[in-house]
Amino acid sequence: MEKDFDYLSVSQLCKFIDLLHPYMDDYLYVYDFIHDYYYISPAAVKRFALPSHSFQDLVANQKKFVYPADLYSLQEDLALLINGEKEDHNMQYRWLSITGEPIWINCRGCVVKKDGKPSHMIGCINEIGVRQKADNVSGLLGITSLQSFLSERAVTISHGYLMRLGLDDFKEINEKLGSDYGDMILRRTAECISSHITSGQMLFRAVADEFLLLDTQNDDIKSAISLYKSIRQTVDEFVEANHYEAVFTISGGILSYKDMHGHSFSDIMKLSEFSLNEAKRDGKNRYYIFQQAAYDKFLRRRRLTQLLRQSVNHDFEGFEAYLQPLFEATTNSLYGAEALMRFRTEEFGMVSPMEFIPLLEETGLIMPAGKWMLHKSLALCHEIQTARPSFQISINISYIQVMKSNIINEIISAVTAHGISPDNVIIELTESGMLESDSRVTKLVSNLKDNGIRLALDDFGTGYSNFSYLNELKPDIIKIDRSFTLKALENDYEYQLLSLMSNMVHSLNLKMCIEGIETTEDLDKMNELSPDYCQGYYFGKPCPYEEFKEQYLT
Ligand code: C2E
Ligand code: CA
Ligand code: CA
Repeated sequence: MEKDFDYLSVSQLCKFIDLLHPYMDDYLYVYDFIHDYYYISPAAVKRFALPSHSFQDLVANQKKFVYPADLYSLQEDLALLINGEKEDHNMQYRWLSITGEPIWINCRGCVVKKDGKPSHMIGCINEIGVRQKADNVSGLLGITSLQSFLSERAVTISHGYLMRLGLDDFKEINEKLGSDYGDMILRRTAECISSHITSGQMLFRAVADEFLLLDTQNDDIKSAISLYKSIRQTVDEFVEANHYEAVFTISGGILSYKDMHGHSFSDIMKLSEFSLNEAKRDGKNRYYIFQQAAYDKFLRRRRLTQLLRQSVNHDFEGFEAYLQPLFEATTNSLYGAEALMRFRTEEFGMVSPMEFIPLLEETGLIMPAGKWMLHKSLALCHEIQTARPSFQISINISYIQVMKSNIINEIISAVTAHGISPDNVIIELTESGMLESDSRVTKLVSNLKDNGIRLALDDFGTGYSNFSYLNELKPDIIKIDRSFTLKALENDYEYQLLSLMSNMVHSLNLKMCIEGIETTEDLDKMNELSPDYCQGYYFGKPCPYEEFKEQYLT
């Protein structure tokens, strides 16, 4: 089919592009085959690595702005168009942005012929990867609209806040009631929020089930909070009017304009995502106001988690097993050691186990790290036993390991593999976090007993103490936590309590270990309670194996 557009010359088409381009997000172009001349919407120069919006010698210039791997197929297609073997161009390939990143584009165009010969091509280029500007489900503008609004006005905003609102548990609605129903809920939620919007406020759809409300007029966070509460009430009313078919709540993360100042758009999005997440983490159906200190803590935790994962994947580089001596009270001689995990990085130095153990537990990395620790501790025990065959090793096991891994087999096979007699091994379990009467716990306990491995109940007296554990777990050793020891040393009532506990423990034929003994006075006072084992800085701090050997084994 011959297209007859020659009443519009190439130069007229260029003028046409000049007129239209300020009102377009896409880029119009003309390519004059005869003069090898290319003209594109001037705005394209701001986005792509083009030499100019108007230039000659297309093929040579394409090397500058077309992604190298796509160059050949593009030029092949172009040759067909110029030779008249093809009339329509429709290709998806990559251009390079001004900063050199590949950007997917869709390039379409048609060839115009003059006297039956291809003369030029006109067409349009649009970015495939750009985000939606508006959302037809919620009927709201999309996030790119917020971005352009903020980039134009960010400097002048001197009031207000940004509130990210998110439905709680929206996934469940979609799963249980279908995505059409979910869309209806999103639309109605958008209406609930919109009904509160006044002048100076704008509402955008962020992702999936989240909305962004920008206020550029009201000065304080108080007005953000009262707006959040009104929105929440309207949502509650909708849920009721909808006969509780879908029961859901809404959370909000609030950033004041001051928190946004000086940040890029993507950083502002991160801060607002963090704020909403905190509101949800805090229990949902509530708001959270951004706090820099909490955000810094969050970043540190995230970075630490990254480093922990890296270490686990790099042969546990940075992990160490420290040993702290355990003393037998009656003979005042070395009984064994508790193995304590350490983590050291260049970036943070030595990190406290109080900080990194919970991260290992949250991420499940405690499974590989705990297993490494188990083997490391047993290997050290094996070395020490060549000089002291009766040496005891006490190893901490997290309840996550009990719940999520086959810890029984791991312990038993590791003990066998390292050639250690089971009665030289103590497994320490903390009662906090432990699910009472969970079958996995009772199974672990009875299996340890069957195999002759002893169990110590750690952290006794820290507030989680529950005497029913004694009956359920039937531990061999009770470890009195340092905080309890401290209280007993300072307070006579607590001391009497500890004394009663000691009697009870011994009448049940269990052993007692007192932790946190730091001075001779501490030791004298605690010895009156006739503990079986003692542990604390008085006997020695946790230290690396070499140091331990030097101090206690020579
Ligand atoms: P925990 O099992 O109660 O370990 C005893 C903690 O008290 C250790 O802290 C030890 O350094 C400290 N300590 C001992 N004697 C004294 C003393 O006289 N004075 C003072 N001020 N502190 C003393 P650490 O090494 O920081 O460990 C903290 C906790 O981290 C441990 O408490 C344990 O719950 C956990 N943890 C350590 N290593 C491991 C491990 O390999 N696996 C698991 N699951 N948890 C571990
Ligand atoms: Ca312990
Ligand atoms: Ca302890």
